[in-house]
Amino acid sequence: MSFEDRAQEHEVLEWELRNAARPAKRKFAPSEPEYGPAECDDCEAEMPEPRRAYGYHHCVHCAERREKRR
Ligand SMILES: [Zn+2]
Repeated sequence: MSFEDRAQEHEVLEWELRNAARPAKRKFAPSEPEYGPAECDDCEAEMPEPRRAYGYHHCVHCAERREKRR
């Protein structure tokens, strides 16, 4: 391997390191207020933060309606 090849390989490695260090798009973990969707999947009502933190996709009303349907 020539010196130029090694230098180029090093550059590629460095470039990959720099790009890997770039933070990925932030995802919210369970229990964080922004975890669930901001709006109810059914009626598009605003989701309260505690509900979002639990990862619910439906507001209280829609969840209750779904429970009764079962
Ligand atoms: Zn709803």
